[in-house]
Amino acid sequence: MIDNVQNALPVPDVPTDAQVLSVLSKLLPDNNLLSPLKGFKIDFSANPGFRKFFYSAKCKCGTSALLSVEISTNKGLSEIEKVAPELIRRLEDRAKTFYDMSCEYHTNMRLGPSSIPASSNTHEK
Ligand SMILES: [Zn+2]
Repeated sequence: MIDNVQNALPVPDVPTDAQVLSVLSKLLPDNNLLSPLKGFKIDFSANPGFRKFFYSAKCKCGTSALLSVEISTNKGLSEIEKVAPELIRRLEDRAKTFYDMSCEYHTNMRLGPSSIPASSNTHEK
């Protein structure tokens, strides 16, 4: 093992994913705009100091956006409770941005940039 954690603070009782999720869920607004994606895993190697929790925002047109919050792996439960409101607020902001887009835009997003018709010239106003 590589020992490069000299600067790290002593690790408090690191909560389980389920504990973190329950803290976050309590703060989520009760409007069903965001739903947690339990058990959604991606490659963590890009950012090993963080654990990620995923949420999806889903529009009525069928497009969904994947949103995530990142929490440092050396945060204890009480620290997470302190930062959670801010994390949820940022998550909500991103969800709102998604819901504010037009469904036309959503559809383009869903199909990918290659689906944008060649006739729609960009930068021409
Ligand atoms: Zn839509």
